[in-house]
Amino acid sequence: MNFYIGIDFGTSGGRLVITNIKGQIYGEAETPFPASSSPDEWPSIWKTTLFDLIAQIPLELRRQTQAIAIDGTSATALLCDYQGKPITSPLLYNDGRGAEMMAQLKAIAPANHPVLSATSSLAKLLWWEHHHSELSISFQPLYFLHQADWLGFLLHGKLGISDYHNTLKLGYDVIHLCYPSWLTNQVNCESNRLKLKLPKVVAPGTPISAITSEIAEQFNLPKHCVVCAGTTDSIAAFLASGATSPGEAVTSLGSTLVLKLLSHTPVNNARYGIYSHRLGNLWLTGGASNTGGAVLRAFFTDEELETLSEQINPNLSSPLDYYPLLKKGDRFPINDPELPPRLEPRPENSVEFLHGLLESIARIEAQGYQLLQQLGATPLTQVYTAGGGAKNQVWARMRERYLQVPMVKPIHTAAAYGAARLAMQNR
Ligand code: ADP
Repeated sequence: MNFYIGIDFGTSGGRLVITNIKGQIYGEAETPFPASSSPDEWPSIWKTTLFDLIAQIPLELRRQTQAIAIDGTSATALLCDYQGKPITSPLLYNDGRGAEMMAQLKAIAPANHPVLSATSSLAKLLWWEHHHSELSISFQPLYFLHQADWLGFLLHGKLGISDYHNTLKLGYDVIHLCYPSWLTNQVNCESNRLKLKLPKVVAPGTPISAITSEIAEQFNLPKHCVVCAGTTDSIAAFLASGATSPGEAVTSLGSTLVLKLLSHTPVNNARYGIYSHRLGNLWLTGGASNTGGAVLRAFFTDEELETLSEQINPNLSSPLDYYPLLKKGDRFPINDPELPPRLEPRPENSVEFLHGLLESIARIEAQGYQLLQQLGATPLTQVYTAGGGAKNQVWARMRERYLQVPMVKPIHTAAAYGAARLAMQNR
């Protein structure tokens, strides 16, 4: 039998899923990152985690593995020498040091571009350029890579290759499939003391190369096993759901509320933090609201959420009109940094209060999908749900009332499974 491996590097650790060609899971592994570590240790921790995950797969499955794909946290970046050795500490997905580069970013990038954020890959690249002397970064050509690119390199040995999901926030033009001149002019500028090599970009899932002979030997993987271009963790989680057609969406009910809708047309709107990733000939558009499970957790335990939800009649609408937030401000579907949390009036009865909270979040979700459609996205046809709130069937019924489309159970919600689906493209 042929097997396919998907590996996910999330915020707290690595996960692996191995499937057959039909997508049936034959094995799973999980390795948490150590609780405390210094930034210069991260690359070695990631390498150990990657190797540890592969070593956990039963030998007979490893021997028949055909392809591997890896996803990493979006905009986690590294600078490497010509041997792929990181020459300074990586900058993680949420590292906001690039805030000091915003003026330079705004001067070079088009208005509303996804690179215009303190945490974007390009903000990190510019930050490294700006600080290279105090970081003792030498002037030799250096490879700029994302976490997933570098982890793939450890398996296939080809340096300087990425995919168009990881490079969106670096400025790669996903419509024309090239780096725009405003970016290459900046990176190749004569006055730059740092000589950087931007990664060559291919479509996620593209076979890059067979694994190195050392990796084949070390893990008893077949020599012909290919490593495919990866993706980001949130796109891998979308792919895991099984959504493939325009109009299909995945709502993530985690600490925050995240919507992703597959569309014929891209939708980009910086005001609401909306941007689109290319997915073959389609576009994955979406937005994220600060409302969500973190607010529920401020009032209820997970057990209370379950028992109290069972007492709600989801077919009756709640008269309570909240905007549940932990602190002021939201961006999508309402862009207002001063938007106050609205949690009044609060009824004495906890069931009624929870009903109001769940229904209000459902209303915000529906408003989010309406906004995406108003901005040109393909109309919603069905919604898959991921995250901690996905198990709440009472909530699903309430949401269905607002969304007016069927709620569908995802095939899987783990990003590693989505990465395995990418690897499976190469059967
Ligand atoms: P994160 O975004 O932090 O990864 P998870 O996907 O793990 O979040 O989901 C955790 C959230 O799920 C919590 O904030 C919690 O309020 C919410 N949650 C857990 N159980 C339920 C439930 N039965 N109904 C609604 N929400 C729930």
